[in-house]
Amino acid sequence: MIQQVENKQRQNMIKPGATIGLLGGGQLGRMIALAGRAMGYRFATMDPTEDSPSGQVSDRQVVAAFDDVEGARQLAAMSDVITYEFENVDADVARTLEASSYVPQGSRLLRITQNRIREKTTIESLGIPVAPFRVVTDADELRQAVRELGLPAVLKTATGGYDGKGQWVLRTEGECGGAFSTLAAWGTELIVEAFIPFVKELSVIAARNPAGEIAVFPTAENVHVENILHLSIVPARAEADVLAKAEEIARQIVEKLDVIGLIAVEVFLTADGEIYVNELAPRPHNSGHYTMDACVSSQFEQHVRAICNLPLGSTRLLSPVVMVNILGEHLLPVLAKLDSLPPACKLHLYGKQESKPKRKMGHLNVVADSTEQALTIIEKLGIWGKVEK
Ligand code: AMP
Repeated sequence: MIQQVENKQRQNMIKPGATIGLLGGGQLGRMIALAGRAMGYRFATMDPTEDSPSGQVSDRQVVAAFDDVEGARQLAAMSDVITYEFENVDADVARTLEASSYVPQGSRLLRITQNRIREKTTIESLGIPVAPFRVVTDADELRQAVRELGLPAVLKTATGGYDGKGQWVLRTEGECGGAFSTLAAWGTELIVEAFIPFVKELSVIAARNPAGEIAVFPTAENVHVENILHLSIVPARAEADVLAKAEEIARQIVEKLDVIGLIAVEVFLTADGEIYVNELAPRPHNSGHYTMDACVSSQFEQHVRAICNLPLGSTRLLSPVVMVNILGEHLLPVLAKLDSLPPACKLHLYGKQESKPKRKMGHLNVVADSTEQALTIIEKLGIWGKVEK
């Protein structure tokens, strides 16, 4: 779905041959670089480790910590445009990059998405539903908040949480004291949200370029295991009007927040068809990896097009698909089956030197005639156990 904007001036078009600087050398940077290189761009990566996943596929590497302002200056000097692959970009580094290079995504969206309080307040101010929430500064305020919001409720750190860490699901008021002191030890503000009894978690990835074009990818249905994404199922198994609503919410967020590049919008779907936005990520997202093999344009190509102010690519879904993540514990079993992976399986590995349990090492996109068939193929591999159909 692409919105054509009149007066499509291609100012600041960054043409193939230019160098894209990547802040962060993880798998998202790697897949941005692989897509961008296919389009003729060059890449420079800044990451604290040598031979990082995106360093391996970049022309140049700056080995420096993420808060190293001098490293950021070096990256800027090599790059015609800078992008990042994670949202916890250090504020001084962001300022340095913006002062000495072109950072089309800007720092406003980063500031919003770095902090759950700012994020929820901003989304709510756009008239888009989020779980009712309160900011709490001590255990008494937390008790008062859960009386107002009801139980269960979810206490979260405002910054620094990931993959379910920095969260506590409160089921009784008696837990408030312990939960508050445990999460307060993270040294950040705390927010408590009403628990949304969702039936599905969905995500939508959308893009906008400086010319104002917007493109929205098909909604993914996401299954998490131990708070880590396990499966993305596309088309999502939900009513067409629900999917259209999720896509419209993503479009509104992109438009109203003047997003440049990609944004992933994670939402909860309730039994009565209501949608609540849970989180935003201003970058490519794990739940968009399915696009690499099942859409006309991948999310990574789209990100490159958007930050370089090229026309956006088609987001059309070419086939049903299920993406399954390969975590550290799945890597050896996957490699052991390399010689017998069904042809529907498209394997992506990130080149990480060290495999650890729960670490994202790669993913499989299973492209099949139906999502049910793709799920059956995954189940038959016997690596992930039973999958819900
Ligand atoms: P988050 O880090 O905010 O993405 O939360 C991690 C996971 O916790 C989500 O994917 C949900 O499964 C669950 N969760 C977070 N917030 C809520 C909420 N307000 N209501 C219900 N479940 C939640």
